Amino acid sequence: MASAKEYVKNVIETVKKRNPGESEFHQAALEVLESLIPVIEKHPEFQESSLLERIVEPERQIIFRVPWQDDKGRMQVNRGFRIQYNSALGPYKGGIRFHPSVYIGIIKFLGFEQVFKNSLTGLMMGGGKGGSDFDPKGKSDSEVMRFCQSFMNELYRHIGADTDVPAGDIGVGGREVGYMFGQWKKLTGLWNGVLTGKGLDFGGSLARTEATGYGCVYYTDEMLKDRKTSFDGKIVTISGSGNVAIYAHQKATQLGGKVVAMSDSNGFIYDKNGINLDTIKKLKEVERKRISEYAKEHKGAQYTEGCLGIWNVKCDVALPCATQNELDGKAAETLVKNGCAAVAEGANMPCTPEAAEIFIKNKVSFGPGKAANAGGVATSGLEMAQDSQRESWTFDEVDKKLYRIMVNIHKAGKEASEEYGTPGNLVNGSNIAGFMKVARAMMAQGLV
Ligand code: NDP
Repeated sequence: MASAKEYVKNVIETVKKRNPGESEFHQAALEVLESLIPVIEKHPEFQESSLLERIVEPERQIIFRVPWQDDKGRMQVNRGFRIQYNSALGPYKGGIRFHPSVYIGIIKFLGFEQVFKNSLTGLMMGGGKGGSDFDPKGKSDSEVMRFCQSFMNELYRHIGADTDVPAGDIGVGGREVGYMFGQWKKLTGLWNGVLTGKGLDFGGSLARTEATGYGCVYYTDEMLKDRKTSFDGKIVTISGSGNVAIYAHQKATQLGGKVVAMSDSNGFIYDKNGINLDTIKKLKEVERKRISEYAKEHKGAQYTEGCLGIWNVKCDVALPCATQNELDGKAAETLVKNGCAAVAEGANMPCTPEAAEIFIKNKVSFGPGKAANAGGVATSGLEMAQDSQRESWTFDEVDKKLYRIMVNIHKAGKEASEEYGTPGNLVNGSNIAGFMKVARAMMAQGLV
């Protein structure tokens, strides 16, 4: 039998060969698989039963045409995706992303990450992901509605409350989930929790909107506790100004931090007095405007074109909450030089592998996305439970459960990092803790 190292190397090679040109997926698979070498050494039965070869291969991949009509009456065509990655732990669960950059490699990377993230939550959820290269920016409400309906005209055959439960992601918020739910209901004649992130009047969960941002901050707070400190008095930078970023700001501020910089895909704002969240919410959630407008409303604030510059802002805590690969090695060096103590990934894979390595090498507490941003899907799991019971829990009940889940995710990653010889490395620890549960379930379920 090949050594654990050789075995993992061979699986990585197969992933690259079988999925050519899908660089984001290669990156995600490499990161997880490399951290599993000590696990394979300890559990040769996983290698004997080709577990890694099975786990990197999605159970099902669906690609479909999404035709829709714009406001001028022209026919448009986009491509839709749903990858049902792994159902060992429960129904497939994972968001839908609408963004022009979406292609199969992005959905596969997100779906793969989702498998381990969902496992870490401790809830009964498998992993999946979906999306389209449709760009909701600049589209009217009716165009977005027609697109969502057409998307669901195909997707409805593949999803269900006990089989696959999609949710939002970039470009898919409450409005889009509402339109998709309406169409699903019309097509199937059913009413159940087939999608999460629904409106509060029709099966949504309190605290779902806040969950990813809040969860990321709860997780970061655990990392700070390990350093015998807290958010109190800390200077915080948060990239993005979408759902995750906004609620990370809210919770970090509640815990005594001061958020001085935020961004969007055009540039970033710096406000040494602390960024006013009401203005950000108005600009982004209500008016759907650019973040540059903030500087017009707050005299002390500066706007700088280009989003990478945000990492030059001196801070104690950095929370990348925008998109993949938005924080590179150079940005990581700058953060380290400026004394940053903790970085947690609110977004999925926002730090490049070089950046993550620099943080770990320099003893910056580093929380990987599959752990730090698992609060969103965890609360989606809680929404599924409420829908099944036909009940709604209070904000406080959901928030308390979310907090406990995030504390446990941190603990599981920390303990696994110690057990497998890289204490404090939460990348390895979270990968291993997430993997072990899926692996045990797959072994118990036979050849799946
Ligand atoms: P949104 O669409 O609400 O917001 C994304 C934000 O990031 C926008 O402000 C966008 O700006 C900005 N942005 C995009 N690209 C860049 C860039 N290169 N540099 C700086 N800012 C940029 O998405 P979410 O907040 O929901 O998601 C953000 C990330 O978190 C994604 O990686 C997502 O997969 C992940 N995530 C989200 C969860 C959730 O519950 N929402 C759960 C777990 C993970 P602009 O307006 O200009 O496009």
